[in-house]
Amino acid sequence: MSARSEFIAGIGTAPTALLTDGTVLPRHALLDAEMSRYIGMYDHVTRLPNRILFIEDFATLRGHGDKMLVLVLVTLADARHYNEILRALGHAFSEDFVRAGAGQLSRILGHAYNIYHVSVLSFAFVIDNDGTGAAPALAREIASAFTEAISCNDIPIKARVGIGLLPLDGDMRDPAEALRACLAAAQDSRVTEERYAFYNHRTDAAHLRAFRILSDLPEAMVRAGELSLHFQPRIEMETGFCTGAEALIRWRHPTMGLISPGEFIPLAEQTALIGPLTDWVLRSAISQTRAFVDAGRNLRVSVNASAINLSESGFDQRLLELCSASDLSPEHIEIEFTESALAGSFDTVTAQLNSLRQSGITVAIDDFGSGYSNLSYLTRIPADVLKIDQSFVRPLGEARSGDFLVRQIIEMGKGLGFTVCAEGVENEQAYALLRTLGCHEGQGYLMGRPMPPEAFDRWFRATY
Ligand code: C2E
Ligand code: MG
Ligand code: MG
Repeated sequence: MSARSEFIAGIGTAPTALLTDGTVLPRHALLDAEMSRYIGMYDHVTRLPNRILFIEDFATLRGHGDKMLVLVLVTLADARHYNEILRALGHAFSEDFVRAGAGQLSRILGHAYNIYHVSVLSFAFVIDNDGTGAAPALAREIASAFTEAISCNDIPIKARVGIGLLPLDGDMRDPAEALRACLAAAQDSRVTEERYAFYNHRTDAAHLRAFRILSDLPEAMVRAGELSLHFQPRIEMETGFCTGAEALIRWRHPTMGLISPGEFIPLAEQTALIGPLTDWVLRSAISQTRAFVDAGRNLRVSVNASAINLSESGFDQRLLELCSASDLSPEHIEIEFTESALAGSFDTVTAQLNSLRQSGITVAIDDFGSGYSNLSYLTRIPADVLKIDQSFVRPLGEARSGDFLVRQIIEMGKGLGFTVCAEGVENEQAYALLRTLGCHEGQGYLMGRPMPPEAFDRWFRATY
């Protein structure tokens, strides 16, 4: 007996119920229990069986035979689109929209399928694919039916469906995982013309990896030995002397191995983790700089700050507090940021940069030339150093590579009063050319790669 028919039998017929242990329950108690069960298993908006019931029914749905079953998940809209409807028209209307979407789907499918309402905007059902491509054909039919606007309280609303297809082979035994994978496919389908997509292990693996990185990062920040800083020498082009170093974070994950900052920093920037992560970098960089200075190296260490760090007020105070706690003069620290930091709260960012500079911290614009922003900001931004992006510098010295842009950037940077630093100096020809062009400083594999502090120390002693 299905959960639904049990429920109806429960309230319709039995005055009392005899439980397996011999207890006899009065009818109202049974009613309460069945009612709670009903409420827990059916969606209150569409009255369709919900995710909990899908999970309960999953073993039956996937069957035991040799049938080629496919789980189909239809999402009515992406979250942003739904939020726009919610904001413009309110909750009641949005629920009407979901109900209308469920009605539309039921009309297309008829009575042939059990539809489950598995999340606010998503519906799932299982179809026999029978080797004739029935699932993709049905997905196309659904997508095409939803191209027409749904009439909702006489207002036509366009759904933007995504349809995911997941073959239910022998390995797929976990219903929650099946729904998750099918939702991933539905999300992938939004960038396809057909509006449906089979589950793709490759794209899903990338999302799962990102998820894993973000879930493991908080622990990496407290567990010793996972995160570390490497230091890359920064050289004065004229004298060849090392006057500074850039602190670059490294993460050795216990099972995933080395993860590049190019991968995990942009992910952390999408979450609140970037705050504590930058704090970790600042603390480690300041304590290592203190050690360099104590060992007689008069270095300035630059630390990369994310746009979000600078747009949150208090960053300047925190940095100065950390310097003071280590009894380190702020002159030994530089903050690097990219043009993207200026896109949001320009006033907060510039106020913090001003405050840092007044305290003796140097400010550098990183990766200059890689963005597309309006050059006029260069005259308004309180910074000391302009770091030319590697993409202009690395090709120097290669046959037929032009140096026109590098020349212009150096000229402009110097004209505006910046110390100009070239990143990505990889060969002698590039070094010589940059020096001739009057570029002040350079950083790159030619002079030194990023190194752990002890290796940096050995490099320093061996070089000078
Ligand atoms: P970035 O700040 O522009 O750092 C320079 C990157 O170029 C580093 O990559 C460095 O290893 C690499 N590099 C230096 N010289 C050469 C060269 O001659 N040739 C080539 N091919 N590459 C060179 P890395 O360490 O992988 O860092 C990548 C980016 O990740 C950094 O770019 C920065 O944007 C970010 N990042 C690294 N550490 C941190 C950090 O502590 N905080 C934040 N917010 N971002 C960081
Ligand atoms: Mg940098
Ligand atoms: Mg850079």
